[in-house]
Amino acid sequence: MVKTSTVWYGSMIQGQAARFASLGAKFDEMIRQLDFCTIKKGDKVALKMHMGFEEDFQTVPVYFVRKIVKAVKEAGGYPFVTDYPTAIYNAVDRGYTSETCGCPLIPIAGIKDRYVYHGDFEFGGVGEIGFAGVLHDADVLIDVSHAKGHAVSDYGGAIKNLAIGGLAASSRWHKMHGVENSVDWWDADKCTPAHAEELVKSCPRGALKYDAKKHKLTLMEGTCTNTNCLKCVEADEGVGCLEIKPEFFQAFNRLMALTTEEILSHFDREKRFFFNFMMDITPQCNCLGMIQPQIVPDVGVAASRDICAVEEATLDLIGKATFLPEMVPPYIGDFSRDDKLHPFQRIWGRLKNPYDQVKYAEELRLGTRKYRLVEIMPPAVAAKMQTPKLVYERQPTFY
Ligand code: SF4
Repeated sequence: MVKTSTVWYGSMIQGQAARFASLGAKFDEMIRQLDFCTIKKGDKVALKMHMGFEEDFQTVPVYFVRKIVKAVKEAGGYPFVTDYPTAIYNAVDRGYTSETCGCPLIPIAGIKDRYVYHGDFEFGGVGEIGFAGVLHDADVLIDVSHAKGHAVSDYGGAIKNLAIGGLAASSRWHKMHGVENSVDWWDADKCTPAHAEELVKSCPRGALKYDAKKHKLTLMEGTCTNTNCLKCVEADEGVGCLEIKPEFFQAFNRLMALTTEEILSHFDREKRFFFNFMMDITPQCNCLGMIQPQIVPDVGVAASRDICAVEEATLDLIGKATFLPEMVPPYIGDFSRDDKLHPFQRIWGRLKNPYDQVKYAEELRLGTRKYRLVEIMPPAVAAKMQTPKLVYERQPTFY
């Protein structure tokens, strides 16, 4: 295992109003540095993306996808873009087609989401998980991720794009999110039925459900989002039968690391590439199918051959970006005023930690969190370079 991995980074900020200093040119150099030389002639190369859903176009711009596809073809590979069937079926609504991407778009687990293979997970009583067969069949993995917040894991990027996005639908929703309830959080003996009803009423998000016949209180998967709230804990004062605790969200992050490990195990280390796009950094993931405000300004792009390094660097870079409180939508509720917290923690509460999933992935030896950040064409360097003659329009011109 290498001790430190390289992460290439291109900032959205450019040092000159010139193409050589812009993110497009930086991205070309990033691909060159990342080096697709380990892609062999004839390799089937999966670009695993989240292509958004319904109106959510805030994912990876097709402009960059085309550049990756072109570079893969130049290396001799056969690229294809893959995601879950619905996102592929209506990808055209968000500008993704075979023509715009430059390669076929193939549903990750077949057109009915049934082309799967199974893995067994003892963790959290999860059991069998269905993994996407098309992704498994590829020779090379290029994990092309949109970095954004997530209501349960706090953050979604390269790990989540595989951990959840690499599964068939039934496993994505019920199995992955179901693991949260494997953590003990409620003491049935201390709670009377009347108190349970009070607790249900206290939750502004409807995250608590009570089954009076079974005397069972359930925390609904993925609905206890903003842990700055803790209204249920206030309502429980004097009884002390429930606890909203970090382990609840850590279970989800641990399971994500485990499913990522399974997916990565099918790709040689030199056949794995990771891109994180820190643009349109929204509070929630792309599964919601809606346009969302950005909670920090665009940061840029990070790329590495190491999934842990690219995730760690991405979180550090987003952590240094300016939090935009005026962009936090009212449906999220209160955000923390503590500016020492990571922006995703300010939104979703300190009980969640965006780094947890990376820590667990490192424990599974999927990579290292120690990274060397190499910034491509830093703005300060570009600013001192000779300014090229400004060209407004290249060939073909229609003047
Ligand atoms: S912390 Fe808030 S959202 Fe979560 S269950 Fe309690 S009241 Fe509901």
